[in-house]
Amino acid sequence: MDILGKLSAKSKITKNSNSIGSLKRNTEGLNNIGLGTILNNAKVIERTEIRTFGQFKKLKKTHKPTVYSDLIKVTPLAPGAMSSNPIFFDLDDTLIKTKSGGKFSRSPEDWKWYNDKIVKKLRSLKDNAIVIVSNQAAVAAKKDSKSLSNILSKIEYIFADLQKDQEININNFFFFASTNKKGVMRKPEIGIFNEFKKVVTQDFDYTKSLFIGDAAGRNNDFSDSDLKFAQNAGLIFKIPEDFF
Ligand SMILES: [Mg+2]
Repeated sequence: MDILGKLSAKSKITKNSNSIGSLKRNTEGLNNIGLGTILNNAKVIERTEIRTFGQFKKLKKTHKPTVYSDLIKVTPLAPGAMSSNPIFFDLDDTLIKTKSGGKFSRSPEDWKWYNDKIVKKLRSLKDNAIVIVSNQAAVAAKKDSKSLSNILSKIEYIFADLQKDQEININNFFFFASTNKKGVMRKPEIGIFNEFKKVVTQDFDYTKSLFIGDAAGRNNDFSDSDLKFAQNAGLIFKIPEDFF
């Protein structure tokens, strides 16, 4: 028996079918204390829920924010019907950009929609889960972290803005962000995709799902992490210019 096999036998580890080399501990019964463990290359990473500061009262009316050391997860309290396939989106320079014109956002208010087509398009996707998948390595997912509070505030503002639109169902919106420079949660790794599949109860044919992102490995792109994420998850990739 190899090392993973031994660990598996010892602590009821179930193999995650979508991520070879990444094993997930069965956290049933541990969820109430917010503990989980991910095994990555036989290295045990403890996942402990981190308490956020800031009230996020408005956000919490519709969503539950949960934070681990490598993952921020904001899920609807009462998910909508979602009869069509989920559509996955990158956040920065796909759905939004900075208001200040800077490369990085300076405050939770420093954002605007990427262009005037975004909200109109989101409005037309009434039956789809809208799943935002963002790499946020600059966020320190620690207790009382300002950067963590800032990103959650920004999501609160974004969701609040969407709710002004009567035709948008905010209960179909999910937000996931990885907070480390590497690891299974960071695109192009598909930890977040697997996390989403655990959150929704419905089964979808993900080969028909889209991923929209700007990091497509083109000449002026800083990365190809969106394209690779889509490929790794088996999703159909589109750049924002082709989707919106
Ligand atoms: Mg981007």
